[in-house]
Amino acid sequence: MTVVGLGLMGRALAAAFLRAGHSTTVWNRTSAKADALVAQGARPAPTIGDALRASPLTIICLTDYQAMRELLDVDGLALDGTLLINLTSGDSAQARETARWAGQRGARYLDGAIMAIPSAIGTPDAVILHSGPEAELEAHRPILEALGTVSHLGEDHGLASLYDVAGLAMMWSVLNAWLQGTAMLRTAGVDAATFAPFAQQIAAGVATWLPGYATQIDSGSFPAEVSALETDARAMAHLIEESEALGVNAELPRLIKTMADRAIAAGHGAEQYPVLIEEFTKP
Ligand code: NAP
Repeated sequence: MTVVGLGLMGRALAAAFLRAGHSTTVWNRTSAKADALVAQGARPAPTIGDALRASPLTIICLTDYQAMRELLDVDGLALDGTLLINLTSGDSAQARETARWAGQRGARYLDGAIMAIPSAIGTPDAVILHSGPEAELEAHRPILEALGTVSHLGEDHGLASLYDVAGLAMMWSVLNAWLQGTAMLRTAGVDAATFAPFAQQIAAGVATWLPGYATQIDSGSFPAEVSALETDARAMAHLIEESEALGVNAELPRLIKTMADRAIAAGHGAEQYPVLIEEFTKP
């Protein structure tokens, strides 16, 4: 296959293909970034056109979608018959628009998102999300598995980007909550390393609630089986008061309570926490 874009991630992708024994053509705007890969057996393409012609499958990994269009949306560059798998990070609208554009240019297209750092590429820890035609993914799955764990999310090209940002929402929310707790405990001389295992346990415990809460969200029914939102809101007030009394930042606790208060004002106080989905669903 061909790998276009040899930044930190693109080089890791190409190196993983080479380690797995796949014949790999590479191209990068700054050609010197291909040198180490060429020493490992990659074939350097002199031009982007040569790179695309060299293989029926091209993996693209550039800074952003704009860079991709600047590179590929040019007259005279033949894309027909090529399968493009775009692992560049972006949003769902860009992914869907790029799929339309690729179709107009006669290319087949899968969008993707890499949920890993370069050093994990080539191991099962590197989860690579794909969306678009499943048959295309399945036809190339054995090759793509050289990069990590291959996942297909659905035919809608926007799904890989949506899962990517949904994962970011999870990541930063968990980290921010941990930082809030760490800031509070430090006022009592408890260091971050001491709090971390306790925080890990809480995060793992909360994670086990998700499937049951998801059933409530999908059914639109939120009976308070564990606790009512108004009970949670009292604990949120406590978190705000404690943060303020300790002199640590209370913005995050206030944000959490503001959303809960709105849901309670709308009459959901006796229902369970996931009823807040209605707050998150609004613009
Ligand atoms: P990077 O090291 O900055 O590499 C960017 C690549 O894009 C380089 O090959 C660069 O070429 C190329 N490029 C930028 N503008 C271009 C243009 N107009 N025409 C042609 N080539 C252009 O970034 P990276 O870390 O490899 O990330 C690449 C993608 O992977 C991003 O979308 C990123 O979000 C995603 N990703 C990265 C990681 C990570 O940990 N690194 C993790 C997950 C996802 P030059 O070498 O010539 O500048």
